[in-house]
This record gives sequence, structure tokens and C-alpha cells, in this order.
Amino acid sequence: MRRLTVLGATGSIGVSTLDVVARHPDRFEIVALSGHRQIDRLAEQCIAFAPRIAVVADADAAVVLRERLTGRVPTEVMHGVEALEMVAALPEVDTVMAAIVGAAGLRPALAAARAGKRILLANKESLVMSGDLFMREVSAHGATLLPIDSEHNAVFQCMPAKGREGVRRILLTASGGPFRRTPIADLANVTPEQACAHPNWDMGRKISVDSATMMNKGLEVIEARWLFDTPAERIDVVIHPQSIVHSMVEYVDGSVLAQMGNPDMRTPIAHALAWPERIESGVGVLDLAAAADLVFERPDLDRFPCLKLAFDALRAGAGTPAVLNAANEVAVAAFLEHRLGFRAIADVIAATLDTLPDQPSSTLDEVFAADAAAREVARRQIGARA
Ligand code: NDP
Ligand code: MG
Repeated sequence: MRRLTVLGATGSIGVSTLDVVARHPDRFEIVALSGHRQIDRLAEQCIAFAPRIAVVADADAAVVLRERLTGRVPTEVMHGVEALEMVAALPEVDTVMAAIVGAAGLRPALAAARAGKRILLANKESLVMSGDLFMREVSAHGATLLPIDSEHNAVFQCMPAKGREGVRRILLTASGGPFRRTPIADLANVTPEQACAHPNWDMGRKISVDSATMMNKGLEVIEARWLFDTPAERIDVVIHPQSIVHSMVEYVDGSVLAQMGNPDMRTPIAHALAWPERIESGVGVLDLAAAADLVFERPDLDRFPCLKLAFDALRAGAGTPAVLNAANEVAVAAFLEHRLGFRAIADVIAATLDTLPDQPSSTLDEVFAADAAAREVARRQIGARA
């Protein structure tokens, strides 16, 4: 029996995780769940899975959740970041799904690493912000890191069981998002609703905008660098609008191994939950004949400047990816609130990176200092444009 904490249970990945878990009550038990703003949804999840602990953002939310649960389930309600770190490290938990969005996911994911857990990592921002430090903690504490991001889960499945012998390149596929064919001149005026209407994947709003700018792929290149200990020069991005091939590994003998499947996050989630075994995920059979053409194209960096910014940040190293990530979070939030245009997201990030070169990132304090400085600069940039 695997005993789980699901961080970010109320989000898109969290809901898919509980969907897979509910199919296998003999295999998985939920010990703790966390949510942030969606208290009604978290209450329903607590009633369905009866976790020992539920964690919310603040004391007010905790009062509301306690009211909802009284007389229904004996779940203890806690709040705040320390409670998130605590449930990520509980002795009775062996597996932690890290599915909080953004920089807020870093501390609890790191707590799971330091407690030597099996970490199912959806929160790519953790590795973007502090890849070196995070991977050192994983190895120092004997934690197991399994990628949930569909591309990295695909790469994981296509990699040799041990080592990197014979691997030449990692090929990350990208759908190109909703604006792959939109005239570049029209991109300045696209709305958050258009940006969040992803052609293939149903995801949270932040990652949906990241997919539309292709910053998501940029963050994933950085994520792949750390997960697979592979330099930027050996990671390539290929546009594949159908999202059937989830990524590929190329070997020195010319073999290219791909993992395919319907675009449904329950596949990588089920893979990581059961690894090294395989379990049913609820995902439909892939009908390749119905999928028809599988198309592959090179990304256009004029259309997707965020992708280039991410590659440059990875090459710059140290705290630069943390600056990139924080500036992106602030710019995307402003875009979602109609305070910033779509094309200006990349401009704000570029200006923030120019203002803050060479940030150190050897310690967690330095990483959060780079994050805070970048948020401040990005906010000023956005303010100056208003
Ligand atoms: P959602 O926005 O759907 O969910 C985010 C979750 O995090 C929710 O449970 C939310 O709570 C919680 N949350 C938000 N802010 C905070 C905070 N400050 N502190 C604590 N909890 C918080 O995002 P997704 O599920 O789409 O994505 C989650 C992560 O997985 C991201 O890092 C994303 O990049 C990654 N990912 C997602 C994929 C997908 O298909 N969705 C694919 C690959 C990676 P509440 O909703 O209650 O406010
Ligand atoms: Mg992905």
C-alpha cells in the first residue's frame, strides 16, 4: 500500500491524481491533501478520501474548511507553508505528489526531498528555480524523483534503465499552443480566454498561458537539464501539434525512442504512482489511425521569444533561471488580470533579466532573494507600461 500526500489536490494535476487513486483503493491511501482557494472542492475531496490532514492557505480558510468537515470526516485542518512542509515529510507518507503551481511549490517539494520520499514532481518551477540545489537534496537524502510533466515522464520512459550510456539528445515535443498559426501582428491583442483555450490539454491557467507563449517549453528545457543531467546543447524542442508523441530520446546509433499516448495527464500520473509497475489510468486507447497525420516542425523563435529567453537563462546559469521564472509568474498573472498584453509578457521578462544578471543561487535564501528581486523589477516594468 502506498501512502500519499497530494500537494495542490484541488488543481488540474491534483484532480487527475485523485481520479487515478480512486481506481485503485487496494494500492493507494491518501494521508494528506492540500488546497489554496478552492475550499469547496477540497472539502469534497476530504469527504471522499478521508485524509488524516488537510492543509489550506490561512487561518480563515481553515475555519471554513473545518465547518464543512464537521460531522463528516475527522480530518485535521492545518494552514500555512510550514504545514505544507510538514505533510510533505510525514513519517507515514512514502509518496508525495508535488502539484502546487509556481514558486509556492518549492519549499514543500524540497521538504519531501529532504525526508527521502518518492516525489512525483509536477511543479517544474522547483527545478527551474533551484535545480542544482534540489537535485543535491534528492541524492543526499535518497529521495526518488519521478517526473509527472508529460514530456519528462516520456523521456524517463525512453531513457536507459541505468546511466546515460549511448544517449545523444533529448527531444522535447511541444504542441505550439493555441497561437501556433495566429499572425504575429495579432498576438498583441489576444485575450486570457483565448490563451487558456489549449487545443489538446486541459490545464491550470498559469501553465496554459505558459504553453501559449512557449515559456512552458522553456521551463521544461531547464527542468530536463536537471532531471536528466543533460546540458542545454543536447536538449532540442520540436513542435508537434497533435500531442501524441510526448517526447523522445535519441541514441548514438541513430535510434529515436518515443513515448506516445492520448494527451491525458492520468497516463504519466499512473506511471509514476505505480512505477516500476503499470496500472490502469482511465485513459482511452490510442487510436493511431484516427489520429491521422503526426506533424513535426521547428519552433519559430520570433513567434515564441520566451523559448529563447529560457535557453539563454539556462546557459547563463546560477540564479538567472529563478529570475526568469519569477518574472514570468508576475507577467502571466498581470496578463490574466488584463493588466498586460500577451506580447509584453516576453518584454517584461527580458527587461527583468537585463536588470538582474548574475544572481547567486547556492542556498535557498539566495534563490528566494533572486525570486523576490525579480518580482519587484517585473512589477515595476508592468507599472511603467500601464
Ligand atoms: P492549477 O492552477 O490547476 O492547480 C494549482 C494547485 O496549487 C491548486 O491546488 C491550487 O489551490 C494550489 N495553489 C495555488 N497557489 C498556491 C499557493 N500559493 N500555495 C499553495 N497552494 C497553491 O495548476 P496545474 O494543476 O495545472 O499545475 C500544477 C503544477 O503542475 C504546475 O507547476 C504546472 O506547471 C505543472 N504541470 C501541470 C500540467 C497540467 O496538465 N495541468 C502538466 C505538466 C505540469 P486552489 O486551486 O485551491 O487555489
Ligand atoms: Mg509538459
